[in-house]
Amino acid sequence: MDMGERPRVDVAGVPVSVDHYVAGRRLSSTTTFEDRSPLDWSAVLAEVSAGDASAVDAALSAATEAFEGWAALGPSGRAPYLRRLADLVDERVADLAAVECVDMAMRHESLRNRVIGRGARNFRAYAELAEDHEERIWSSNGTTNRVQRLPAGPAVVITPWNAPFMLATWKLAPALAAGNPVVLKPAEWSPLSASLLADLVDEAELPPGVFNMIQGIGTDVGPTLISDPRVRRLSFTGSPATARDIGVAAAANIVPFTAELGGKGALVVFADSDLEAAARTASDQYDDSGQVCLAGTRLLVEESVADEFLARFHDHVDTHVLGDSNDDATTITPMIHPTHVARVEGFIDRARAAGDELVRGGDRFVPDWWSGRPEHALWVEPTLIAPASNDSEIVQTEVFGPVLTFQTFVGEDEAVALANSTAYGLSATLFTSSAQRAERVGGALRAGTTWVNCFLVRDLTAPFGGLGISGLGREGGDYALEFHADLKTLQVKDGTTT
Ligand code: NAD
Repeated sequence: MDMGERPRVDVAGVPVSVDHYVAGRRLSSTTTFEDRSPLDWSAVLAEVSAGDASAVDAALSAATEAFEGWAALGPSGRAPYLRRLADLVDERVADLAAVECVDMAMRHESLRNRVIGRGARNFRAYAELAEDHEERIWSSNGTTNRVQRLPAGPAVVITPWNAPFMLATWKLAPALAAGNPVVLKPAEWSPLSASLLADLVDEAELPPGVFNMIQGIGTDVGPTLISDPRVRRLSFTGSPATARDIGVAAAANIVPFTAELGGKGALVVFADSDLEAAARTASDQYDDSGQVCLAGTRLLVEESVADEFLARFHDHVDTHVLGDSNDDATTITPMIHPTHVARVEGFIDRARAAGDELVRGGDRFVPDWWSGRPEHALWVEPTLIAPASNDSEIVQTEVFGPVLTFQTFVGEDEAVALANSTAYGLSATLFTSSAQRAERVGGALRAGTTWVNCFLVRDLTAPFGGLGISGLGREGGDYALEFHADLKTLQVKDGTTT
């Protein structure tokens, strides 16, 4: 380990470091892992440093050393750094979008117009939220009580491969604003935008050790990182399986952790709804090849309008363009990795074998213009499955691909029962023109976020997270700041004057 910085690689014209970032400088490991682009699987994009125990130790030592100084700055002393970071994100949108598009294959159009900018908004929002926080002070029992939020110590932030830049900033911003130095571990399937983020941290001149980033394979470097007793907060987004490991490590060291996990959202359409808007929104669930935790992947449609809904839905899906993520006409991008494509195909195969009806799609898609090997074309057609039973695996388990299920219901009770019938509870979407039904059914849907007649609208001050196996704890607004703080009650007897 520690060979300094290796030569940067050119990704879409942007020089990207393939190394870790620790204590304000680059650090490389002798072992590397291959990073490939879903847009061209035939070539290795980068050989990225694979973190090990010594890299983890260096990062956590740096974060521990930086803690006291960063905490002492207070919210208003830290806010200018976050705002500077936000400005730099805005200045570098073009580079960040170009690299993320190649590395993760998210659509360039959404990256440059919305997703990267959300990273800047995350930093600004948390600079403001931390500054605006007022201590809670009240009198009782002849004493004055003050609740203080004290920075907790080094935080480990672990992110998944989908929307990696946005999600990293969403998790980093509250940790940094709350006064906790961070060690970020990005996902090995899309590690490069985290490296650009380290460049921005460098440019924003955050004190060394306040932000550290360790690359690596999760199952190799993760266990060392999450079990280190110096870690005082664990903030994770990814799969329920990994969350269980994180929970065990957190329990061993008695460390609070949050887990933002998978979803199996219901998209519930009542006969009284704007069917055109509902069908269009349903078709939009295929965007990014369905690799979206919040996606409403279970279409539940009131029986009396099922045929009309399906006709409109098919019309919309027919307009989807499966293509290159750099092409603004593309709506369905290639999936992240051949292993993931095989996983999604496995779900489709098992559904068919179990007697579920394949309504549309189901096959691999190779574009006309594709010149690579067919197995390197990472698209699956937008797929709709009508399950034989609600217990079917395709209904009950997150696929994380372009696969939706279609079921009908009669009346509110059945709609709610079906919607709430999985172990997940991240999001739900409801279409109805009735305000009373919106209240009744919206209130009964078991999900951390429920949208009514809209989808993916987010207010950064609202709590965000999942019920059931979709997660533990809440991000967003003050909720994340409180997670990153040690709350302390200071109780002073009245009359204590000198
Ligand atoms: P994953 O759990 O496989 O990996 C997530 C991260 O954990 C990666 O950085 C990985 O390297 C790391 N990791 C893996 N094993 C580890 C271990 N033993 N110890 C520590 N770290 C380890 O998940 P993924 O496949 O990258 O992400 C997809 C999942 O994330 C889906 O289930 C999706 O729904 C979910 N997700 C949830 C949200 C949300 O906000 N709720 C957002 C995006 C994605």
